[in-house]
Amino acid sequence: MSRPRIGVNCDVTQDPSAEEKLTLNWSYADAVLRGGGQPLLLPPVGDDAAVAEQLDTVDGLLLTGGRDYDPALYGRLPHPATKLLAPRRMGYDVALARGALARGLPVLGICGGAQLVNIACGGTLLQDIPSEVPEPLTHTRGSEAPTFHPVEVLADSRLASIVGAGELETNSSHHQAMDAVGRGLTAVAWASDGVAEAVEGTSGPFVLAVQWHPERLLDRAPHAALFGALVAAAAR
Ligand code: MN
Repeated sequence: MSRPRIGVNCDVTQDPSAEEKLTLNWSYADAVLRGGGQPLLLPPVGDDAAVAEQLDTVDGLLLTGGRDYDPALYGRLPHPATKLLAPRRMGYDVALARGALARGLPVLGICGGAQLVNIACGGTLLQDIPSEVPEPLTHTRGSEAPTFHPVEVLADSRLASIVGAGELETNSSHHQAMDAVGRGLTAVAWASDGVAEAVEGTSGPFVLAVQWHPERLLDRAPHAALFGALVAAAAR
């Protein structure tokens, strides 16, 4: 049997002085491979028919991080700290996520990809944790060394069935976070400052979205297991 095919959305460079490039951190592809899947890199195509064709070719979807989604997507005005994704990626990512969810494809969202899952389900984001959360933890140090904080994983959740319930140490590299949770989703992990760190589908297909970066923690079994769980769902 061939490996389940996991579509992975890519980023697009935004340097006006250089040729545009698709980019993807190797760790995302590595995580899918080590989880037993075949990563298929998906460029941001321009229309819904092409998105549908991409979705026809995959068994599951890994939604990756990046810069910020346009707050107009969830009905808010931009915060000064919001740094937008490449325009090419903005509408495409939303169409890809909505299409996958509508088809019942297994979906794992990571960091910005988790925020995308929430937006695609009608949820909203906090645009800047430091200015919108009282007494916030440090959730990012910019491009410097990663910061870590524990999250509390809700017992009896899908997430807990993969990583275990209770405290889980996570890496953190985000200045935005999920706020109002979208339709059909429920929050299943939180940081100690109350920031939601994971949501999942309340029923039906595998839909899981984590605010941290498990692909950078593959030497830790609970984090690596998230990719195995995505691939297992894609195999069904
Ligand atoms: Mn965090």
